[in-house]
Amino acid sequence: MLNLILFGPPGSGKGTQANKLVEKYSLLHISTGDLFRYNMKNDTPLGIEAKSYIEKGDLVPDSVTINMLKAKVNENPDVAGYIFDGFPRTIAQAEALDNFLKEKGQSVSGLLALDVPDEELIKRLLERGKDSGRKDDQDESIIANRIDVYNKETAPVFDFYKKQNRADKVLGVGTIENIFERLCSMIFWM
Ligand code: ADP
Repeated sequence: MLNLILFGPPGSGKGTQANKLVEKYSLLHISTGDLFRYNMKNDTPLGIEAKSYIEKGDLVPDSVTINMLKAKVNENPDVAGYIFDGFPRTIAQAEALDNFLKEKGQSVSGLLALDVPDEELIKRLLERGKDSGRKDDQDESIIANRIDVYNKETAPVFDFYKKQNRADKVLGVGTIENIFERLCSMIFWM
């Protein structure tokens, strides 16, 4: 199985690249952000809980996020592998994912981090906010908080996998096709 973590700050292009990777490698794309938005749209108890955090640009608590992720994986056992997009975002989530996969006799194949400068992220997010309807993309102070949370809580996840020789950075600037090729050439070695 190929179990890939697509990593990077908000606006780094994880969703765009995940869609292309899914096609090429026949993987299941699991985006925790998309799962939360689906639940918010349908006013489920999970969506209502998540909304209060997401609208401020904060992380949804680990226990909620981890249970949601596990449920999604368990619902889809017969796949060639998973692309985790937006998960893990904390060390606790990374540890939970490792243990969870281990119980299934599986593991994370590798983490690829899209590297994009902050100015470019802010520009992309504000642009996306114009037509996506995502409130968290429309307010510069919420965007700034998300980048701050990323640097404090999420960036350490890169080092967690780097120490185990399972993490690499990929330049996330350029054409979508160029970035895709960079990712594919890294996946080749996993
Ligand atoms: P982004 O475009 O900022 O990368 P996502 O679409 O992945 O955002 O997620 C949107 C929001 O959902 C995040 O800002 C956060 O509040 C919440 N969220 C998504 N994934 C997680 C996670 N793994 N842990 C906690 N909160 C999460």
